[in-house]
Formats: sequence, structure tokens, C-alpha cells
Amino acid sequence: MKRLAIALLATAAVSPALAQEHRELGAHEHGVGRLEIAVEGSRIAIGLEAPGADIVGFEHAASSAGDRAALDQAIAVLEKPLELFVLPGGAQCVVTEAAARLVDEEEHEHEAHDDKAHEGEKHADHGHEAQHTEFRANYVLTCASPAALTGIEFAYFKLFPNARELEIRLISEKGAKSFEVGRDAPALDLKGQL
Ligand SMILES: [Zn+2]
Repeated sequence: MKRLAIALLATAAVSPALAQEHRELGAHEHGVGRLEIAVEGSRIAIGLEAPGADIVGFEHAASSAGDRAALDQAIAVLEKPLELFVLPGGAQCVVTEAAARLVDEEEHEHEAHDDKAHEGEKHADHGHEAQHTEFRANYVLTCASPAALTGIEFAYFKLFPNARELEIRLISEKGAKSFEVGRDAPALDLKGQL
């Protein structure tokens, strides 16, 4: 599967299903992040993947003090999930875990170098010219009154002006559903979904 993913990437034709399984940074679309929300009883696990372009406006290696400050600031903001994804106060959710990090191309290539299929010309086509970074964050929330989880408001778009859209996958006892939430209508109605 990994070999296939790399071969497809070389032709810039990674299918969404495959991309989800083995995400390559070069395959992300600037402006579009992904959010997975899994609700199980009073516990909500959230995973965010967002292009560096969306969060700090650049994906080059931090070369100045200003760049580094922007990255640190972004991580600090990303580690406050309830300020990004605003839940109804009545649900009484608290943050149990929050961790955010920046993933860069080098980390990804390190992993790819182990694969023999990655050598030779495919390697040359692999987009070394275009560097990409992605922020990844994982959260766990605990909500005392999960019945009050009627929706999410995405202050995320206010905090990150370059973000346009979040592709959302919601997993609950009712199954898995996909949504898209954009800057023009930054809310997700959860009534009847959980
Ligand atoms: Zn990028």
C-alpha cells in the first residue's frame, strides 16, 4: 500500500481514499484542513490536520525569529481546542488532552527513504521543489452533559484568516458522516447526529 501511494504521488494523482490512509503533505490543498471528531458518551476525541499555509501563512522552514515566533504562537493557539471549536456551554466540556505539532517534509521523507520504490526517477519527481508543512493536533474533551452538544461554532476561521474550509468526519454511535464547514458558514449542527 505504501509503495502504491508513492507511485501515485509521483503522478500527483492521489485519490482521497488513499490519501486518507497514507497522507502525503504535498497532497494537501491550501485553505482546506481536515477534522475528525469521534464522540463516545461523554468523551470527544478530535484530530486536526491543517496546512501550514492555513495556520501561519507559510510552509517554508522557519528562517527568521518572526517565523519561529509565528510557529510557537500557532502551536499555543492550537492547544486550546475549545477556543477553536466552540461547544455549547451547557455541555460542560473540559479539555483532557491537547497536543499540537508541526510536521514538515523532512520528517515525511525520512520515512519514505526506507522504501526501495522511492529510489530513482520517482524520487526526483517527488516534489522536493515544493515544500509543505502541516499542523497536526489531537484533543480529548470530556463533557459532563453530552446531551447538550447541539452544535460546534468554528472560531478557527477567525483565528486563522487563511483557512477556508474544514472537511469534517464525524463518528458517533450513529455511524460516520462527512461534512464540510467553510468560513462563510462556520458552524456545524449536531442535532440528531450524535
Ligand atoms: Zn502545502
